[in-house]
Amino acid sequence: MAEGRIIKALSGFYYVQAGGEVYQCRGRGVFRNRKVTPLVGDFVSFDENDDGGGYIMNIKERENELVRPPIANIDQVIIITSAVAPGFSSMLLDRFLVLIENKEITPVIFITKMDAAKEQEKEEIRQYAEDYQGIGYDVELLSAKDSQNLPVLDHYFQDKVTVFAGQSGVGKSSLLNALHPSLLLETGEISKSLGRGRHTTRHVELVTVRGGLVADTPGFSALEFAEVEEEELADCFPEMRERKRLCKFRGCRHHKEPKCAVKEAVETGEIKSYRYEHYLQFLEEIQTRKPRY
Ligand code: GDP
Ligand code: ZN
Repeated sequence: MAEGRIIKALSGFYYVQAGGEVYQCRGRGVFRNRKVTPLVGDFVSFDENDDGGGYIMNIKERENELVRPPIANIDQVIIITSAVAPGFSSMLLDRFLVLIENKEITPVIFITKMDAAKEQEKEEIRQYAEDYQGIGYDVELLSAKDSQNLPVLDHYFQDKVTVFAGQSGVGKSSLLNALHPSLLLETGEISKSLGRGRHTTRHVELVTVRGGLVADTPGFSALEFAEVEEEELADCFPEMRERKRLCKFRGCRHHKEPKCAVKEAVETGEIKSYRYEHYLQFLEEIQTRKPRY
């Protein structure tokens, strides 16, 4: 039996990459019985046919999986946010960070459209970049229009499976195109909505970009914390995760409790106050969400 990785799923076929070749495979009925459907990103073993096709026989246990796009075994999510149009929002960035941290996937922050930012905006963004780097995140400031400087990003992609995330219009497609010119994804809101249409079934494909694989569809279309539990929220902020064991009360929510190590760190400036305010806002969203049935 051969082993490989599913890089594309389309019309009942799974395209399995193995040793530089791609095999058009079908799933065996066994998956239906076990309620496991092969996903793009899965490591599988398959029986080869004579005609370059095969049958998937087994799926390796997944490290993680996303629903949108449906993809397994992701190494990192690169959050794309733009300096301008739309302007940088640390609140939105933190929303993405929490969702990704909650799935225990590594987030990376790319801030695009730096070429279009004014000097003052650049200065602000550099300050934010420093803050987030201080927390431990990798942050890159870049421009999709400056293709000469894009090779400095190669090490992010090498040997990894990456999903892009970010609100629409920040430049996700433009960046993917710049990294991988033969991809030719549509850019700009108008052409996108006219082009594919809402009703066309989208399929996901992992495309080879700079020595790694990148999903051609961005992730996290909904930014709600439906799956984040109240007690998990502080763990999605690395700078709180470290300190919360010093809080006096077990189960401290770092809100109204006395002797809270997180609040003390906010006061000394070790935790940025805007990060803490976002934490409180997200906490309230989680505490007031309607129960799911
Ligand atoms: P997406 O919705 O996140 O995929 O964003 P697009 O890639 O479609 O880009 C949205 C708009 O921003 C397009 O008009 C792009 O030309 C523009 N854009 C993307 N990246 C950059 C950049 O680095 N600099 C500038 N000035 N414009 C950019
Ligand atoms: Zn606390």
